[in-house]
Amino acid sequence: MRVFSNGTSTIKISMESVVVVDMLEDFVGGKLACREAAKIIEPIRKLSIAARAKKKPVIYVGDAHLPSDPEMIIWGEHAMKGSPGASIIKELAPSPTDIVLEKRTYSGFRETGLDLVLRSLKVNTIILVGLHTHLCIRHTAADAFFLNYHTIVPVDCVCAFSPQEQESGLEYLHKFYGVELSTVSSILENWKKE
Ligand code: ZN
Repeated sequence: MRVFSNGTSTIKISMESVVVVDMLEDFVGGKLACREAAKIIEPIRKLSIAARAKKKPVIYVGDAHLPSDPEMIIWGEHAMKGSPGASIIKELAPSPTDIVLEKRTYSGFRETGLDLVLRSLKVNTIILVGLHTHLCIRHTAADAFFLNYHTIVPVDCVCAFSPQEQESGLEYLHKFYGVELSTVSSILENWKKE
């Protein structure tokens, strides 16, 4: 069992789950395409494959919007429920053992059932990856913090629209939600020792 200490408190990491946020067609190459998104596909793929091999749950949570959702006023229609834009990109297609949940706000926890899934699987640490560092990753990390999960974000598996948003987004995660910033290679090294 790995122990994480941030200087003031210590967390025993007993069960980890990879949570993949919004790696959907509309966000990677579609309506709200993010230029940096292509770079994080391979690291996320590598991490997910290793997690499955270690019997760690891989959970996808992605937008599946209805026209009445609050975000429509900000972003316009995107990743609409049942549309091709709301489908997970083929490079990261879920395995039959993975869990796929839908969300309708920035947070992967809000009214998605994610908390119940994680608690049922005895997960206390989430490895949060996907899009975008300063938006859905940030709001998902906020709820994870409020629900007392420990969160690890491999910095090579998240991105934002600009380098500034990426940098300030990561800083905010660490500073206010106690997120452990890591890399895929460092996580895989830790898993080798388990
Ligand atoms: Zn959305």
